[in-house]
Amino acid sequence: MGGSNSLVTVTILKKEQDKSEIAGRLQHLMEANFPELKSVAGWDGTVTFRDPGNNLELLNVLSGTIDASKISTDPGLRLLKSIGKSSLEIAALRNGSVPRIVDAVVTPDYDDVEPLLKTMRSAGIKGVVSGGLTGVTGGFRRENCRWLISIDTSRLKHFQAAEEYANAGPGLTGSELETLANRIGMTIGHFPESFADSTLGGWIATGASGQESNFYGDIEDILMGTTLYRSDLTIRDIPSPRESSGIRAKQIALMSEGRNGIIGDSTIRMHKIPEKRTYASHFFRDFSAGIRFIRGQMEFPAIARLSDHVETAYMLELASDQHSRNIIRTFLRAHGIKYPGCLMVTVDNGRKTWHRVKGAANTGGSIARKWEENRYGRPEIGNWLWTKSLTPDTMETSCMWKDAEKLYSESTKTFREEISSLGIGGIIMAHISHLYTLGPAIYFTFILSTREPETHLSQIRDQLENQFILNGGSVTHHHGIGSYFRRYVGKEKLNILRMLEDPVLGDCS
Ligand SMILES: Cc1cc2nc3c(=O)[nH]c(=O)nc-3n(C[C@H](O)[C@H](O)[C@H](O)COP(=O)(O)OP(=O)(O)OC[C@H]3O[C@@H](n4cnc5c(N)ncnc54)[C@H](O)[C@@H]3O)c2cc1C
Repeated sequence: MGGSNSLVTVTILKKEQDKSEIAGRLQHLMEANFPELKSVAGWDGTVTFRDPGNNLELLNVLSGTIDASKISTDPGLRLLKSIGKSSLEIAALRNGSVPRIVDAVVTPDYDDVEPLLKTMRSAGIKGVVSGGLTGVTGGFRRENCRWLISIDTSRLKHFQAAEEYANAGPGLTGSELETLANRIGMTIGHFPESFADSTLGGWIATGASGQESNFYGDIEDILMGTTLYRSDLTIRDIPSPRESSGIRAKQIALMSEGRNGIIGDSTIRMHKIPEKRTYASHFFRDFSAGIRFIRGQMEFPAIARLSDHVETAYMLELASDQHSRNIIRTFLRAHGIKYPGCLMVTVDNGRKTWHRVKGAANTGGSIARKWEENRYGRPEIGNWLWTKSLTPDTMETSCMWKDAEKLYSESTKTFREEISSLGIGGIIMAHISHLYTLGPAIYFTFILSTREPETHLSQIRDQLENQFILNGGSVTHHHGIGSYFRRYVGKEKLNILRMLEDPVLGDCS
């Protein structure tokens, strides 16, 4: 290794506008919940670490395969390519615990991918693929690697449309992809909250789900076929609506989290942009009443987001002023619902699904419209909380309808018991995020006020995950398993996953 061994400072949280209206409201909300906040030192979102230096031997091997202009050894970039956006990673870094930093960042063009993988295989170089780096499962962690590089997909960005489908590069972000589709009057229909930064390759590799999955499907429904580059061979699907010829690259690529190969160009479905959007906002007496209503439906709006009473209160506080909240309070009282009730926003594409909901108070479309305006705003709120020394996190699962109420109540109860036994502050809230005929996905958000974020996060996450599993929930619904959730997946499944791994992209022994 050669290098200066000097200190490097990197910003790991995007700077947010503290002066925005929402920041003022958040400050007020958080001080009401966490009065100790006033006396806690804030954080500017930067991390300082020792420059790991350059691995000259590795660079020599790489430059024999790929143009030097496509290789970076910038230490700040290398750190950023070694982490995702999970709270555990942020908490660890804030604590001064720096993960294994990749030795170089390589940004190949399409023609470079196959030779790069072959060189990696023959020279014993390990790699992690990076898209938008919004993954939240510790998927970039590789310990004990002698030589480790990040393979950045940001040059793989072509887009070729053909009527109701397109062939697209894995490095296109959600917003880039949607802009390209919109130019020809089409939509991909995949809108994860991380839409601005997450990529097509990342969506496929994690098994992502967008906010309108009830209408457009999850990523496996949108993806028709792909190309998977492995260090031993390249597998290509022909674009066809369905195929029963043994195995498809799509199947090996989906949810592979960068381990089974590099996902290359993919064929994805497109739909005409809907001419009209319809909005509704209903309040239920409680979460169970909302769940029971949804459970009885045969058809779902594109978005149906049912929040519990804690999340409802937060949404109303952040999105409306005192006067509007008083009007809602009076309106709910007239319907026999205690404020804040449980809000369900629905948005649909042209249809008027669920415009009249039995047992709920209908406040019209404005709250749902407001929610849609801010639908990608949570990362900003999360970053703001970190800078105030609070620790935000999210976890998600899916289950059959019969288990949904119990899974929710047991999980939130466990959280409250755990923070009380740890003697720390915290709040938890949840919403039903994606709907299937057989059951929902449930998304939990929690905020901790603790001086030991890393330890307490690990403990609480473990307790919650165990509650999900005990109550019939899946390990995750759309975040993937990365390194954090592997221990909850059965040994048999892990063995199969290992069999599919490309040796240059899996763990280092
Ligand atoms: C604020 C926020 C909101 C989010 N909202 C949602 C949501 O609504 N729905 C949802 O599903 N997820 C959501 N996520 C999680 C995350 O955005 C998704 O997992 C997303 O699919 C990751 O895409 P990415 O391009 O950022 O991938 P990365 O984070 O770069 O990578 C994630 C994993 O995929 C692998 N990978 C990436 N590209 C490739 C490729 N071309 N070939 C092989 N492997 C590859 C990586 O090695 C890694 O293991 C959210 C995350 C954040 C931080």
